[in-house]
Amino acid sequence: MNKIIDFHTHPFINEGQNICTYRSDVGVSFEDTPKYMKDLGVTTVCGSIINNFTIENMTWSDVEALNNEALKLAEIWRGFYVPGFHVHPHYLKESLAEIERMHKLGVNLIGELIPYGFGWTDYASKAMDEILDLALQYNMIFNFHTMYEDTVDKMVEKHPNNIIVAAHPGEYPDFMGHLERMKKSENYYLDLSGTGVFRQGMLAYGIKKFGAERFLYGSDFPVCNPAVFVGGVGLDSLVSDADKEKVFYTNADALLKRTDNSFYENAE
Ligand SMILES: [Zn+2]
Repeated sequence: MNKIIDFHTHPFINEGQNICTYRSDVGVSFEDTPKYMKDLGVTTVCGSIINNFTIENMTWSDVEALNNEALKLAEIWRGFYVPGFHVHPHYLKESLAEIERMHKLGVNLIGELIPYGFGWTDYASKAMDEILDLALQYNMIFNFHTMYEDTVDKMVEKHPNNIIVAAHPGEYPDFMGHLERMKKSENYYLDLSGTGVFRQGMLAYGIKKFGAERFLYGSDFPVCNPAVFVGGVGLDSLVSDADKEKVFYTNADALLKRTDNSFYENAE
C-alpha cells in the first residue's frame, strides 16, 4: 500500500478545536499530527475544523472563523491537508458567498458538515437546495454527517448530479440506507469513518453490492483512532488488495483531482 488518503478528519490548530476526548492527558498535538498520521501510512488528510465546545446560536462569523482556520492550517500543512469548509443553511447569502470565495481559492471540499453541532436539522431545505446547486456549478464535493436520514434521502433524490460523500456507515439499518442511496445516485459515496467498520463483513458486503469505487477510507481523527480504521480496511482478508488500494487511495485521489482542488494538486 503506497498511499492513504484519510478523507474524514477534523484537524486543529488550537486545543479548542481538538475533539479527542483524552486530549488533556494523551492527545496528539497539532505539531505532531502529520508525523502521527504518516507513521500509520496516511499521506493526506481532508476535512473541516470544528470546535470541541458548543456555541449556542451560532452566528455566521463563528462559522467563517472555522473556515479561516482551515485555510490557515492548509497553508502550514501544504501538501498534507486538503481543507474542508462549512456552510450553514440558516445563513444562505453568506454560505453562497463562501462557496464563491472558496472556489476562487481552489478549495472544493464542503464539510464534513455537522448539523447537530451548528444548530440546523434539514438537508432538504430550500436553502440547502441553493447551496447544492452552486456547489454543483463549481463541481464541489459535499461531505455530510449522517443524520436526519429522511431529509438526506430527499436531498440525494433532488441532487443526483452532486458529488455527495456521506460520513459514517453506522449500524446495519443505516448502512442499508446508504446502499439504497447508492442505487439512486451514482455520485453518492460513503466514507468509512466513525461507527461501522468494526462490524465484520460490512465493508466486504458493500463492495460486493456496489464495487469498491463507492467507499473512501476515513477515520474521524482525532475523535476516533485512525489505527483502528487502517487495520479495519488493510488487514481484512474479505477485501482484495486491489479493492483496498481503491478504498485507501484511488477513489479519493480521483475525486479530489476531478474537482480540481488546488491544495490537493500541490500534494507531494
Ligand atoms: Zn466527523
